[in-house]
Amino acid sequence: MDDRREELARRLAQVRERIASACAAAGRDPGEVAMLAVTKTIPARDVVLLHGLGLRDFGENRAQEAAAKVVEVAELLGNPPAGAAPRWYFVGGLQRNKARLVAPWVTRVESVDSARLADALDAQARRAADDGERDGPLPVLLQYSVDGDPGRGGVARDGLLTLASHVAGCAGLRLDGLMAVAPLHADPEEAFADVAAAAEVLRAEHPAATVLSAGMSGDLDVAIRHGSTCVRVGTALVGERRLASR
Ligand SMILES: *Cc1c(COP(=O)(O)O)cnc(C)c1O
Repeated sequence: MDDRREELARRLAQVRERIASACAAAGRDPGEVAMLAVTKTIPARDVVLLHGLGLRDFGENRAQEAAAKVVEVAELLGNPPAGAAPRWYFVGGLQRNKARLVAPWVTRVESVDSARLADALDAQARRAADDGERDGPLPVLLQYSVDGDPGRGGVARDGLLTLASHVAGCAGLRLDGLMAVAPLHADPEEAFADVAAAAEVLRAEHPAATVLSAGMSGDLDVAIRHGSTCVRVGTALVGERRLASR
C-alpha cells in the first residue's frame, strides 16, 4: 500500500510537471487547467490514495462500476471535511437507462451527444433535485466528435449548435462547455485545432459554456496548447489498469 502511494505520488508529480511545462510553453496560467484523474478500472483504495495526495476530481466511464466505486470510496473516506469530498465526472458513453444511476452523485456529465440522452439526464437530474439528492441543475459538456464517426460517440460539427440549444432549454441541465477525444490515428495537432474551433463556435452562442475538456495521457500537452481547460488523465497517473475491464 505504501509502495503504491509512493508510485502514485511520483506519477502525479510527473503529470503536474507536464501540465506546468505545457502551460509555460503556451503562455498560459496553470491555474486555468484543471485535471481529472480518470479512475476507471482502478480500485476504490487507489482513489482513496489519490484523494490523500490532494486530488478531488475523478472521472469514470462506466455507470455501474462508477456507482459502486462512489459508495466504496465514501465508506473508506468516512466524513471528509467540508470541501474535501470527492467530485465524480462521467466521461464515457452513457446509455439513457443509466441516467438514473448517475444523477444522484455525478458532478458533471462530459459525454452528452444526443438530445435523447440530454432529455434522460434532464429528467433524472430534476428528480434527484426533488428528492434532495442534488442541488441545482446538473452541469454537462457536449461531447464533440472530431471525425464525425457516429460509432465512437460525440456529436459532429453540423449537429453541435442544435444540440447545444436543446441542452440550454433543459431546466435540469446547465451547459458548461465541450469535451473531445482525439481520434486514434489522427494528428493530435490537427484534431485539437478542430476541437478549439468547435469550442469557439459553441461559446459564440453560449458564452457561459467555457469549459474545454481535452487531452489525455498521450496528448495533454497538445490539448493545452489548443486551449484545454481540463485534462483527463488515466494511464500516466495510475499506470496499468488494476481491475479487469467489463
Ligand atoms: C480512459 C479515458 C481517459 C484517460 O485516458 P488515458 O489515456 O488513460 O489518460 C480520458 N478520457 C476518456 C473519455 C477516457 O475514456
